[in-house]
Amino acid sequence: MSTTSYLIPEKLYPYFQAVSLREPPLLKELREVTANIPRGQMQVPPEQGQFLQLLVTLTGAKKCLEVGVFTGYSSLAVALALPADGTIIACDVSAEWTNIARQFWQRAGVAGKIDLRLAPGVETLDRLLAEGRHGTFDFAFIDADKANYWNYYERAYELVRGGGLIAVDNTLWYGKPVDLADQSEDTVAIRDFNRQLHRDERVLISMLPIGDGLTLALKTREA
Ligand code: CA
Repeated sequence: MSTTSYLIPEKLYPYFQAVSLREPPLLKELREVTANIPRGQMQVPPEQGQFLQLLVTLTGAKKCLEVGVFTGYSSLAVALALPADGTIIACDVSAEWTNIARQFWQRAGVAGKIDLRLAPGVETLDRLLAEGRHGTFDFAFIDADKANYWNYYERAYELVRGGGLIAVDNTLWYGKPVDLADQSEDTVAIRDFNRQLHRDERVLISMLPIGDGLTLALKTREA
């Protein structure tokens, strides 16, 4: 396997993948294509794509949001797990990277499930709110620019239904949040996001050491 993890011991990781991964050939190909482009390490590892598939299946999700598409690994994984009438509104600002995504969505036969919105994520989410789509989404995956994480989260919270799930990527941010000397914008944003989410009693949360840290926030039904 070409991927590595800083959260799972190096010796154990190949075994972890060998006995748990069921990566379809097209996802594997996309991962390999992405590994060869600049910033290719931004894509989610295969076990995380598989976990997102389990989450959407578990929650019976049909309407999904994704903020941060990159080359489309996570959206392809989610789309493959969705029922035939499932949809994803996918937000990104890069035509270049999402062109790769589109090709793979086409080849996988799921392009019709994915509505790509090329605009700043906050704008797209605000538009959905302006259209009155509060509480109509089942699942949201946030994996874009860290400085806007709280902005994305607050909007995703309004857009998902009670009992809907928000998954937020990179919440352990390569271990940087614990280094208080690191005051870079992204690290500060992740640190602040985690602190704020910890205090947000409208959701049940669980932070998982998968990928680069994945935090799940379940909107409680009473909200
Ligand atoms: Ca990520």
